[in-house]
Amino acid sequence: MKRKSYASKPKPPKSRSPEEREQVVERLVGGAIGSRDKRLAGYREKSLQMYPWVCARCGRAFDQSNITELTVHHKDHNHENNPEDGSNWENLCIYCHDNEHSREVEFHFSNGTMPDKDEQDVAKYNPFENLKELLNKR
Ligand SMILES: [Zn+2]
Ligand SMILES: [Zn+2]
Repeated sequence: MKRKSYASKPKPPKSRSPEEREQVVERLVGGAIGSRDKRLAGYREKSLQMYPWVCARCGRAFDQSNITELTVHHKDHNHENNPEDGSNWENLCIYCHDNEHSREVEFHFSNGTMPDKDEQDVAKYNPFENLKELLNKR
């Protein structure tokens, strides 16, 4: 029995030049970054609408002129967890926010024990105390 040969072979996929491929990748990556930015900006706006423009740690107040220094912290440290009621958000100034995340690092590096007491002592220590005395003596 003679096999019937296919009249038309499947066409090979249309080949793209390297330049064309680059453009496609750029479009895909650019789109992904764009939507991520939008999502990140979205929760910050919502949190700033929901909560007063005051740092939840140090109580520093913000207005239009310096609102860029007020950031939104995720209480459970999961930036993907953005419930609509804002229960995972906390408005923190950039300094307190930094502090919040360096605590997290310390926690991991100290075998799970928080250096509570030491940290408080450090906070009370004022490196300019002597300097002030010296200046007053003059
Ligand atoms: Zn603060
Ligand atoms: Zn944070």
